Amino acid sequence: MAHSDNQARSVSDEQSRSPGADPRRAPAPRRSRDLGDLLLDRFFSTGHILETEPIAARMIRVRISAPALRNTRCLPGQHVRIAIGDAAGGLLARVGDLRTYTVWQFDPERGEFDLCVMDHGDGPGSRWGRAAAPGAQVMFRGPEGSFVVNDDAPYHLFAGEETASVAFGAMLAAVPDHIPVYGAVETATPEDRLPLPRAAALAAPVRGDASAARSQVLLDAVRELELPSTPGVAYLAGEARTIQMISKHLVHERDWPRLAIRTKPFWTPGKRGMD
Ligand SMILES: Cc1cc2nc3c(=O)[nH]c(=O)nc-3n(C[C@H](O)[C@H](O)[C@H](O)COP(=O)(O)OP(=O)(O)OC[C@H]3O[C@@H](n4cnc5c(N)ncnc54)[C@H](O)[C@@H]3O)c2cc1C
Repeated sequence: MAHSDNQARSVSDEQSRSPGADPRRAPAPRRSRDLGDLLLDRFFSTGHILETEPIAARMIRVRISAPALRNTRCLPGQHVRIAIGDAAGGLLARVGDLRTYTVWQFDPERGEFDLCVMDHGDGPGSRWGRAAAPGAQVMFRGPEGSFVVNDDAPYHLFAGEETASVAFGAMLAAVPDHIPVYGAVETATPEDRLPLPRAAALAAPVRGDASAARSQVLLDAVRELELPSTPGVAYLAGEARTIQMISKHLVHERDWPRLAIRTKPFWTPGKRGMD
């Protein structure tokens, strides 16, 4: 996985102040393990944050070390569900709210993975991303999910906004170079863009102050794409109602079969913690 030194905070930064410390050693447990921990072990994997870094204007990259994931698989596009609980609380408080984040990069040799968490405002997930700090313990489920690349597609079409672009980054990296990709990835500002593989093939509409929900900006950008005359496979993710609009466009205006369209709503106004 690529490491960036740009404003990154890492366990090794903090431990470099103690000579002889191993930067990849898990931090010492803060309290002795109890029956609740054993129960949680059945449902969750445990890791700890290695480093964090702003990767776009409102997106924090969080690298997590989870030894249980060593030599396992994570299909590009799969996600984890983070337990945003209070490590010092009782059993239910330790789980707290579950929030879903796509795995941006996965390193099976080290048992490490990166998430990119959008700071959209207020919510347990946003607050967790803002507060993420090297050394903090993380409980999670997964990786899991079926929003992954179809290897038989003649070409791939991606459409979504900031949160979707995390999944698209992982998926685009998995598409062989000779298979064409098309798409539109909308952001509020150019600074909100993630560094995506094959970005030159993707339209990058900017919505400015307009809402990402029911986004006419993204729909128009998809409408303007010059696609082959026969369908490929489409991946639509992000805000639920925008996805519906783009899906309808593909079916009714471009004559795509519904089976060629994979959708994954990530969020929608008023709903908390989708999936
Ligand atoms: C399969 C899957 C993969 C996902 N991958 C990622 C990922 O890689 N990175 C990422 O940042 N998010 C991702 N999401 C979206 C993320 O899980 C949601 O945005 C989640 O709701 C954020 O939790 P929260 O506690 O901050 O807000 P919540 O408490 O869940 O939501 C509170 C309110 O905030 C608003 N809101 C929530 N999310 C957004 C948003 N993204 N933009 C604008 N307003 C919002 C809505 O009005 C919502 O009612 C994914 C979701 C799914 C289902």
